[in-house]
Amino acid sequence: MDRAEELKVLHEKWLEKCDCSLRITATQGVPGDGNPNAQVVFIGEAPGKQEDLGGRPFVGAAGKFLNEMLESIKMKREDIYITNIVKYRPPNNRDPLPDEIAACAKWLEEEIDLIQPLLIVFLGRHAMNQFFPAEKISSAHGKVIIANKFKKCHYFLPLYHPAAALYNGSLREVLKEDFKKIPLALKMIKEKNKCEPPI
Ligand code: URA
Repeated sequence: MDRAEELKVLHEKWLEKCDCSLRITATQGVPGDGNPNAQVVFIGEAPGKQEDLGGRPFVGAAGKFLNEMLESIKMKREDIYITNIVKYRPPNNRDPLPDEIAACAKWLEEEIDLIQPLLIVFLGRHAMNQFFPAEKISSAHGKVIIANKFKKCHYFLPLYHPAAALYNGSLREVLKEDFKKIPLALKMIKEKNKCEPPI
């Protein structure tokens, strides 16, 4: 089985067995999507209305803005893999609750484990705080974190959520600037031959 097939099997398994309570109100589960061999994995919060209807992550307004920012760094949606910490839409897009995040946390872990990206980009505080609960997005955004998570050392880059930046001009500029750090981080990661968290 190649990686794309393995990913398909993984999603089928979790779509059947994830017992997130949001399944009652959501139209369908929204698994991660994109390049199974991506160097960069983006992790968002939870599907919104368009994603709930379409079954794919980041296809609404925030997704369109994300596509523009990817273009600005000469990347395409086909280059990346994108997923969410919660795979079912919370009613009225409210914040996901801790038990909803916990219900399918292993689903996300298995996606990362399979793809083995060079860089994991958090879109917004919810994604970041699942792994770095003490960090504040206002100070952590745009800075690479090196840490042992998902069973091994990984590079993480927290960014503001594109939906938050869509309607806030100053955040939008910050996010655009932070996006430029993605190619820089990839270059740095490729030059380093070993991932080692600071002591
Ligand atoms: N916002 C998210 O965090 N995820 C999506 O899939 C869409 C919007």
